[in-house]
Amino acid sequence: MTQYVPSLFVSHGAPTIALDSSDPTHRFLGGLGTALGRPKAVLVVSAHWESDVPRVSSASRPETIHDFYGFPDPLYRLMYPAPGAPALALRVAQLLGDAGMQVTVDAERGMDHGAWIPLMLMYPEADVPVTQLSVQAALGAQHHYQIGTALRVLRSEGVLIMVSGGFTHNLGEVDFRSESTELPRWGEEFRTWAVRAIEEGRVEDLLNYRSMAPHAKRNHPREEHFLPLFTALGAGGQGTCVHTDVAYRALAMDAFRFD
Ligand code: ZN
Repeated sequence: MTQYVPSLFVSHGAPTIALDSSDPTHRFLGGLGTALGRPKAVLVVSAHWESDVPRVSSASRPETIHDFYGFPDPLYRLMYPAPGAPALALRVAQLLGDAGMQVTVDAERGMDHGAWIPLMLMYPEADVPVTQLSVQAALGAQHHYQIGTALRVLRSEGVLIMVSGGFTHNLGEVDFRSESTELPRWGEEFRTWAVRAIEEGRVEDLLNYRSMAPHAKRNHPREEHFLPLFTALGAGGQGTCVHTDVAYRALAMDAFRFD
């Protein structure tokens, strides 16, 4: 029987989780690589790479991009020297092309922090090849779901499809001094709705989350941190919440696997 690697959604939160070993999401990601085992390669869809049409990175030695500002110096010295996965990048481009999508291969692009911070915690040896696929913030949930559907076959080829965003992501509501482990009511109502919809497999409701989920626009004023979820959903099967936490008052740190 064909073995399918689960697809994953992780909330990456602030870059500081990379060094804070007391952080619950740091600890969760630290155990996740062991729980999943070592895939042949990882395809990451990160909220921090946006483009008009899908772009896939084919660099053989992707650089570590420190695409965040105003954080402590040690974070800017972290490097994640995992090899690239050029063959996988071409396979992704082919699968998306076969599904009728326009796609561009990018030989220069490195790894942004939405990709390398979770990976550094999951696979600290940096020995699993990685490629990245970009997000199209203007194209909505259905588009990202179709990308996932087109890439589903990769799960039977030993590839881990990991998408990295934020389960709630309104930076205007963040309070870096907050130690609260509970979201404000408008965040919790959204979180509860979305977790249930995922675990009950209500794909149509999720695809229409902008109108159906309570307070969707307050939790996601822009969609780029939520849209990667739809690629994991399209690529995967039954969804299960495998981690939950709250950071800085307003960031839900939930993670899901889709088996
Ligand atoms: Zn982010």
